[in-house]
Amino acid sequence: MGISIALAGNPNVGKTTLFNELTGSNQFVGNWPGVTVEKKEGVLKGHDDVKIVDLPGVYSLSPYTTEEIVARKYLVNEKPDAILDIVDGTNLERNLYLTTQLLELGIPVVIAINMMDTVRKNGDKIDIELLSKRLSCPVIEISALKGEGCMDAADHAIAASHDNKLVAHHNFSGEVEHALAHIEEACIHDMPLEQQRWYAVKIFERDKEVIKDLSIKGEILKHIEADIRLVEETADDDAESIITNERYLYIERLVEGCYERRLIKRLSQSDKIDRIVTNRYLALPIFALVMFLVYFISVSSLGAWLTNWVNDSIFGNGWSLFGLEIPSIPDAVSSLMVAGGFAPWVIGLVVDGVIAGLGAILGFLPQMLLLFLMLSFLESCGYMSRIAFILDKIFRKFGLSGKSFIPILVGTGCGVPGIMASRTIENINDRRMTIITTTFIPCGAKLPFIALISGALFGGAWWVAPSAYFMGICAIIISGVILKKTRMFKGEETPFVMELPPYHMPTLKNLLRSMWDRGWSFVKKAGSVVIGASIIIWFASNFGWDENGFGMVSMDNSLLAIIGSAIAFIFIPLGFGIWQAAVSTISGLLAKEGIVSTLAVLYAGASIGNSGDFWTNIAGAFTPLEAYSFLAFNLLCAPCVAACSAIRAEMNSGKWSAFAIGYQCLFAYLVSFIIYQVGSFVTGGGSVIGVTIALIIIAFALYMIFRKNKNYEEKL
Ligand code: GDP
Ligand code: MG
Repeated sequence: MGISIALAGNPNVGKTTLFNELTGSNQFVGNWPGVTVEKKEGVLKGHDDVKIVDLPGVYSLSPYTTEEIVARKYLVNEKPDAILDIVDGTNLERNLYLTTQLLELGIPVVIAINMMDTVRKNGDKIDIELLSKRLSCPVIEISALKGEGCMDAADHAIAASHDNKLVAHHNFSGEVEHALAHIEEACIHDMPLEQQRWYAVKIFERDKEVIKDLSIKGEILKHIEADIRLVEETADDDAESIITNERYLYIERLVEGCYERRLIKRLSQSDKIDRIVTNRYLALPIFALVMFLVYFISVSSLGAWLTNWVNDSIFGNGWSLFGLEIPSIPDAVSSLMVAGGFAPWVIGLVVDGVIAGLGAILGFLPQMLLLFLMLSFLESCGYMSRIAFILDKIFRKFGLSGKSFIPILVGTGCGVPGIMASRTIENINDRRMTIITTTFIPCGAKLPFIALISGALFGGAWWVAPSAYFMGICAIIISGVILKKTRMFKGEETPFVMELPPYHMPTLKNLLRSMWDRGWSFVKKAGSVVIGASIIIWFASNFGWDENGFGMVSMDNSLLAIIGSAIAFIFIPLGFGIWQAAVSTISGLLAKEGIVSTLAVLYAGASIGNSGDFWTNIAGAFTPLEAYSFLAFNLLCAPCVAACSAIRAEMNSGKWSAFAIGYQCLFAYLVSFIIYQVGSFVTGGGSVIGVTIALIIIAFALYMIFRKNKNYEEKL
């Protein structure tokens, strides 16, 4: 029989940092609320029989958000042996609100006051002995980030779990206690004594879940209701607010004399930075500049240089190390295979299929790692929370929520967790909107494609890669504005509350860990899906029928060419109606990395009888305008199957999922159409009909953006 210890606390107080410290595991730590949506389990280092459970952060145990439900279900139904309550020492009062609820559960509680490093730096003091006496439970000071006091806190929690004394809790006012006593007697008296308190308070608050779970009879409920009414009339407030107010009054008394704050509040370092970074006029330009630099450095400049080197040397013409000539991987493999006497088609499959496809993807790894490194820096230092905060003010004007930004941010790594992160949004309309728009932001898997187009067709021009990011942001805003005004999204708005955590320098270990996690899952995907896809694409593009029957044929007669040509016409108005592009787009639905690996197989030098490498062949196959339209379509259209099934799971409705994916495809099609038609008209080619249709679409979009919001009007 092992012991289970639950880590509970408000969002963003360092639970996951502590969890990693205690279990030695590598969960993702983010400096914003809502990262841990599901609970996670691990084993305490050096104690094989102690299980640590990282719960999602919550402000209270009410059943309003998914996190609250997850945390509460675990605590109430699965009853851990002890709760380690993580409290942010820089924000004691607000954090203790949850503590007052945890203490009512009848489970031993140990309080760990985290962020003590910051508390000390601010010059504040907490009298933990007094606090511990007043709360009648152990209180320990820790710094999860610095690893101070963590094991001590865990030891106290283990000790507390063996201690089966009744857990103490505070008393509410006389009237409330009277009603609670009635409730306990009327419907939960056969429950273990220590568990009654929490249920009684919840029943008093008329918590529907609890009343349903306990299946309390109607007549008893009526009887209790009279008691509750009486208290409500005396206090002239509703039951839930009465409890909330009394908790805060209690906390006020609790911290009096325990919590000493430096009287003269200097502007903290964070406040000083925020004065500039969240400034009304500067915030957006700074954000644009920061994101521009991130994409510019990782994709266009330094990243491109690294990728070029990898492509030229490891996958191209070989390289030399201290005068030693090292052949490229394709050269080495093909000469080995020729020496081994393999059939030419096998060599073709391995070199032009597997290695070309895989190499095309892995070559982009340096750019990818750089991007991930910079994004995790922005996330964990606290800057990204500011962006959610700033964008909320702007989004609000259009009736969107800044909360949508967190899923979008997660989506820059991969759309699947991004879509899953939308769970933290309570408002159903905002949540659906976020699910529909999150994958507009370029995920890591789309990066190779962006880098390829930018490098091969635009000579790595400075604006191409950042434009992919800003195209995503614009798509999200425009879609939000348009969809919000439709009848589908009628409904109330919920205000957005976001804590701005203080800035801090992330540890290098944390940054590298998160870069590694994302990079590794990319490599794994390249190793499975991409290899599979490359093999299929190679076969389908080398076999087919000609005058000699079925066999190896030239690529234009291949099976793939037949299939691709059948659908390529759809893309003619977008400028890339060739079968190679159609096939790449489709394999991009399997995994977005598939776009580049497919292009690599189809344009590998030898296969198309051209001596140039894949990059030069690509450059010859498209004009820059066609390529940009091709890029835009693939960035915005339906995401990969994994993300589509995440959409299905989170929408929990076939109709809404179909709408989301259909909308994305239509949006992508129209954007590419406008880019290509207007672009070719401006550059002198193009058709009058095409550009006219494009202008009509633009006019219609503008109308949809600027028309009155009827949903809003009706509410007034
Ligand atoms: P969770 O949301 O409660 O799981 O919190 P996280 O573990 O994700 O941490 C939130 C942020 O607080 C991260 O940026 C951490 O690096 C930071 N953090 C965690 N513990 C400490 C600490 O002891 N001191 C300081 N200064 N920062 C911390
Ligand atoms: Mg967490």
